[in-house]
Amino acid sequence: MRKKVIAGNWKMNMLPNEAISFIENIAPMVKDTKNEVILCVPYVDLFYSLLTSQNTNIKIGAQNMHWEESGAYTGEVSGKMLQSIGVEYVVIGHSERRQYFADTDETVNKKVRAALANELKPIICVGETLEIREQGKQNEVITTQTRLALEAVEASKLENVLIAYEPIWAIGTGKTATAEDANSAIKAIRGEVAKIYGEPIASNLTILYGGSVKADNSKELFETSDIDGGLVGGASLKVEEFAKICLSV
Ligand code: PEP
Repeated sequence: MRKKVIAGNWKMNMLPNEAISFIENIAPMVKDTKNEVILCVPYVDLFYSLLTSQNTNIKIGAQNMHWEESGAYTGEVSGKMLQSIGVEYVVIGHSERRQYFADTDETVNKKVRAALANELKPIICVGETLEIREQGKQNEVITTQTRLALEAVEASKLENVLIAYEPIWAIGTGKTATAEDANSAIKAIRGEVAKIYGEPIASNLTILYGGSVKADNSKELFETSDIDGGLVGGASLKVEEFAKICLSV
């Protein structure tokens, strides 16, 4: 039985003092859940968030990383750096990074391999545009993104990998994929992973849905056969709302 995982993606929001009070407030609300609760925070909030979340069941993630360990890459942060301060998760290939910061399937793959080499758990984002969905080619696109992101990743590492299916047309738009459509896309991703790594690994893999998840739609989404939780943007910035999502299943 796969564990449910609810990961907040704060994007470029929350100053360190806001991060501290958010975690102090939400920790008692979610302390009894068996679900994995993760907050993926801006770099400047990482250290404060890690300290504040000590002795709670909240895990901390970053939102991006560079694939090299160090070097002349001004403004970048490496997986080794994240690991050195105790970060556990890292979002890789979010559509905003693919769209605005030139992440490609190739750099996503390099980042995934570097994350795993540094004992970080990558949350790999895949998802189609509205145009692709209207052409009915979404499964082709998301299975290709999945295959390329996992190229040369050893089977033994898959237990530390999470995938988030995030249709681009549903991110920050208020439009959520129906539970049925999201579940069917996630089944296609799981099928692709089964082709590469075999059924047992695929059926153990955690695959999240992301795209306008809120307290009033999370339960329906998370109770489907293949959706193992959510990657939550806007609704993860509100303590009460995010706590409700974490406790909805
Ligand atoms: C996201 O940023 O990954 C996301 C899904 O955003 P939102 O929940 O706001 O659509």
